[in-house]
Amino acid sequence: MADCLFCKIARGEIPADVVHKDATVTVFRDITPHAPVHLLVIPNQHVGSAGEIGPGNGALMAAMITAANAAADAEGVSESGYRLVFNVGRDAGMTVPHLHLHVLGGRHLAWPPG
Ligand code: 5GP
Ligand code: ZN
Repeated sequence: MADCLFCKIARGEIPADVVHKDATVTVFRDITPHAPVHLLVIPNQHVGSAGEIGPGNGALMAAMITAANAAADAEGVSESGYRLVFNVGRDAGMTVPHLHLHVLGGRHLAWPPG
């Protein structure tokens, strides 16, 4: 999508602190981190949100979670733990309409969320 912020990051048209990129996904640091480790995993091809995911998207979901796990390992939080979050829609606080998986770690994360 021409005007989508995260499509532009995936295409390298907007700078981001990219920690991993492959044919399917891009992983980069959130610009406003909510934890010592706060990464975003996005598909390189535009998908609006997790609300659009269905049975045909298994390979993409596996690629995103695999990239999240590898990034968590590289950041040193696989032992201490991390949270994987998809926000969907207004009440969840979704602000960027391109599918993204938050990877949060490096401190204790409260549950349930506020
Ligand atoms: P959401 O609230 O939609 O689940 O998450 C969107 C995330 O994208 C937010 O945590 C926000 O800080 C992050 N974000 C928004 N714009 C940019 C940007 O231009 N660069 C980076 N690296 N992160 C961004
Ligand atoms: Zn997009």
